[in-house]
Amino acid sequence: MIEVKGITKVYGNKTAIEDISFTMEKGHIYGLLGPNGAGKSTTMNIMTGYITSDEGTVSVNDSDIYYNAKTVKEQIGYLPEIPPLYPEMTVREYLCFVAELKGCNKKEIKDIVEDIMEKTGVSEEADRLIKKLSKGYKQRVGFAQALLNSPEVLILDEPTAGLDPIQIKEMNDLLISIKGEHTILISSHILSEIQALCDHVFMIADGRLVFDGDIDAEGTDLEALFLERVMKSAEEISTEENKEKEAVEAEVMEEVDETTEEAEDGSDI
Ligand code: ADP
Repeated sequence: MIEVKGITKVYGNKTAIEDISFTMEKGHIYGLLGPNGAGKSTTMNIMTGYITSDEGTVSVNDSDIYYNAKTVKEQIGYLPEIPPLYPEMTVREYLCFVAELKGCNKKEIKDIVEDIMEKTGVSEEADRLIKKLSKGYKQRVGFAQALLNSPEVLILDEPTAGLDPIQIKEMNDLLISIKGEHTILISSHILSEIQALCDHVFMIADGRLVFDGDIDAEGTDLEALFLERVMKSAEEISTEENKEKEAVEAEVMEEVDETTEEAEDGSDI
């Protein structure tokens, strides 16, 4: 189980995410939805210990990612938006390298890598340089490195970005086939994909969690729900901003009034 409690991240004067909390259980695929710039990658980067939060905590099976970084990170496989690939390595070399970094048993690395390449459908490209692979294959290699060492939690930032429809189906079938052994969080812009894959959805708009609930592959109108929640959040923010603006204007007017009264009194301004 992974638990996210009240995480907040501020960049300069921009609050990227604010007070986000949710939990995920093993055996389920969770979707993370939100418009561009909503805070999805920031949330995932914090959940994987890639960046730190300014407030809040993330724990896997009650172990805090900050205080037990090594143990917790070993239980998380991450496919970031841009997979961390080494273009000058072959697929096999790269996966062996990552397996070593992840602390896999040296004697078992060869078998582990062959197994992952088979699972993710990259075996036929095993000896090609990564820089020579198509976008789809690069994405699969990124996914393969996330799966190495069979981590309990898999965090996948847009895993099907740039894939063609057949590759998307293959990736989704793969996720469904392994979901029982993992806790999976995926972000995607494709609502139909989230609908088909996920049991539960989190929606983020303007850095805030605006929906946390189960969805039904047939019953839920995810698009309507998404638009309703995101637009409601935009309206609330605009109302808050208007209120703040009105409060500032009222304060300025009050000061102007006081100054005018003092001037009429003949007192010093
Ligand atoms: P999403 O993944 O939903 O598109 P992000 O998490 O990438 O959104 O970004 C959320 C907000 O935080 C955006 O306004 C983005 O510009 C800002 N942001 C993200 N990373 C940084 C950074 N390193 N420095 C400054 N602002 C950032």
